[in-house]
Amino acid sequence: MAEREMAVDRKEAFVPPLDELASVLQAGLSSNYLDAKVKVVDCPDLTQPPFTLAAPGLCGSPRVADVGGVPYLIPSPQLDKKYNLEQVAGQVDLPGAFVLGAGAGAAHVVGVNCEMMPNIRTTGGAHSRNNQTRVSRVNTEDGTCILEHYEDTYQCRDFCLLANLFFCEGKPGKVLEVKAKVRTGQENFVSCMRKTLEQQYGDRPVALGGTFLLEKGQAKIHIMPGFSKTPLQSEEDVNNWLNFFEMSGPLINLSVFVSRDPGLDLRVEHTHCFSHHGEGGHYHYDTTPEEVEYRGYFLPAEYIYRVDRPKVSHMIGRD
Ligand SMILES: [Zn+2]
Repeated sequence: MAEREMAVDRKEAFVPPLDELASVLQAGLSSNYLDAKVKVVDCPDLTQPPFTLAAPGLCGSPRVADVGGVPYLIPSPQLDKKYNLEQVAGQVDLPGAFVLGAGAGAAHVVGVNCEMMPNIRTTGGAHSRNNQTRVSRVNTEDGTCILEHYEDTYQCRDFCLLANLFFCEGKPGKVLEVKAKVRTGQENFVSCMRKTLEQQYGDRPVALGGTFLLEKGQAKIHIMPGFSKTPLQSEEDVNNWLNFFEMSGPLINLSVFVSRDPGLDLRVEHTHCFSHHGEGGHYHYDTTPEEVEYRGYFLPAEYIYRVDRPKVSHMIGRD
């Protein structure tokens, strides 16, 4: 893929001590779940099942990036907006990074618009590449989900249009362990944490990235179908275009969220999931509040990068 010039902006994130974050998040989650526990732990080896991530830990130079944006998809796709996970690791000054998050798969490689679950150790550091990224797309024959391994199927590290990514050196170390079960409130798992942080820290932006399992229960997930033939002008148009599914745990979620946008035109939360039973896509919320159980690992980022920010923006389709 030819490299093109892209603007890269950066702001410092606010990084509270981990033990403070743990007590703030536990209090917030307790208002939305019957049982919530947040503590500081040594990151478990995330390369092991069920997570099967591309690197063992979330530690070392953590940063997040918002690449491209929904305005490149809506109202009409800008097909020249192509990116590469390894190139972005360099753009955020961390070549060789372990990268996880949520984005749009490379329509120019897969052949159709699709969801991407980035999960890759990029080349450039002390480690060789390990690409465990997945993509999901809609089966045009019967409307079911097709989940594919990006490297095995397409030998691909490209993506397009948009992504929200967390980068680190992939090292073990201290992280937040977040457990919550039986949802009693209306917020989804990620929104609950994000809004809790916004309430606590106000205009000091706290950016978290990591992974969580939806261990039990089901979730509402969308997969983008092929690009809309007509411009998407409203939230309603977007919802009529997207394909929605109920998918079952265990779902392995890759998540990036920022408590409040510090003026970078961010998508403040974005979570995609994959599984070992053929399902994956964009996480909205669980649909089985009485059954649901979450377990996740997160770390606050030191920097928020904005790569190739759209010049014309809007707030449609950021859910
Ligand atoms: Zn998404």
